[in-house]
Amino acid sequence: MRVEAVRGMPDILPEETPLWQYVEAEVREAFAIYGYREIRTPIVERAELFSRGVGEATDIVHKEMYVFPDKKGQLLALRPEATASVVRAYIEHGLHARGGVAKLYYLGPMFRYEKPQKGRKRQFHQYGVEAIGSLDPALDAEVIDLAWYIMERLGLRREGLFLRLNSIGCPEDRPRYREALREHFVPHRERLCPDCQRRLEENPLRILDCKVPTCQEIARDAPRSVDYLCEGCRAHFRELLGYLDALGLAYEMDPKLVRGLDYYTRTVFELASRDLGAQDALLGGGRYDGLVEALGGPPTPGVGFAGGLERLILVLGVREPPDKCFRLIHGPDVYLLPVGEGEKIEALRILAQLRRAGIPSDMDYAGRSLRKRLQAAARSGARCALFLGEEELSRGEVKARDLASGEEEYVPVGELVDYLKRRG
Ligand SMILES: [Zn+2]
Ligand SMILES: [Zn+2]
Repeated sequence: MRVEAVRGMPDILPEETPLWQYVEAEVREAFAIYGYREIRTPIVERAELFSRGVGEATDIVHKEMYVFPDKKGQLLALRPEATASVVRAYIEHGLHARGGVAKLYYLGPMFRYEKPQKGRKRQFHQYGVEAIGSLDPALDAEVIDLAWYIMERLGLRREGLFLRLNSIGCPEDRPRYREALREHFVPHRERLCPDCQRRLEENPLRILDCKVPTCQEIARDAPRSVDYLCEGCRAHFRELLGYLDALGLAYEMDPKLVRGLDYYTRTVFELASRDLGAQDALLGGGRYDGLVEALGGPPTPGVGFAGGLERLILVLGVREPPDKCFRLIHGPDVYLLPVGEGEKIEALRILAQLRRAGIPSDMDYAGRSLRKRLQAAARSGARCALFLGEEELSRGEVKARDLASGEEEYVPVGELVDYLKRRG
């Protein structure tokens, strides 16, 4: 019986990986230019990190997290997102003690048990940044600017994208806002979906991002969080808007935008594509000023975002793949053709030599006829074929054929590297 991949956990095939590598390289470079350094946290964490960090009542933790006991019964989870992990590492390694703002980025697979659909898989890949250690709204603006910069680098038009923005205030503002939401939703309790009836008790903010149409309809004229901000949060948001204006970054105020994670405070945002339909967010983020403390660190503010590589590739895939992408597809430049079995040892030796000299080269291992192998050489895209015959080798030479022009010449084995490099 054939064993197949787990549903929602797709392979990324060789013809797709060049686009992935291209996007990953661009994203990494953008992060580096903005002063962020990579952190690599493990894929498996204690489940409690996410129930405490992301929130027990969130869909991510409540419904979508892969949780399992290890052999000692310790409850572990496949990470559903990376912010909680990065903050855990930040605390665990005392990065706060180094002072200043820790600017960290990550890139890697995350796991959520969701209904698999286009651009949304159970194993998916996120790129993201966390800037931990400052309340300055200029840092929020920097993070948003970085999100735009990534899209610019990838050649996505500004007109095709838009930024949704909101402020959900601080924990002091939250009780009043939550109460206002509860008052708004309670009269409609019976019409809310079963999840939202639960959310009404646990955290009515979560109703605002419910995807069920009836819930969305009831949420349409719900109270707006920006009307429940304290003076400090209002000033913070005002300053951020001033910085965004100064940077020429447009935004659309979205009072429904609360993001599906409990740790957010103040600024929340999403960068969305007009080409993606209903699930249009390319990346999302915001401030999490209470998260470090909630996970056992000293009170430390932070801001960041995360985006899905699958979505980005979906949006990029509709265009011509950029030239840079093709440079990553490394076919052989040189193809070796040992004429008989006896020449195979010499072929392997030459192959090892060429490769160590940095010349992409290959030969046929399928045991086919010389004619078939020559076809394989042509198909491989190599520019040059090297024929290794008994007679030539006895003279210490091989026959080189230019696969485009058909021109042939004899080259001493000892001069092959120079010869091939000279041909360029
Ligand atoms: Zn506040
Ligand atoms: Zn609902």
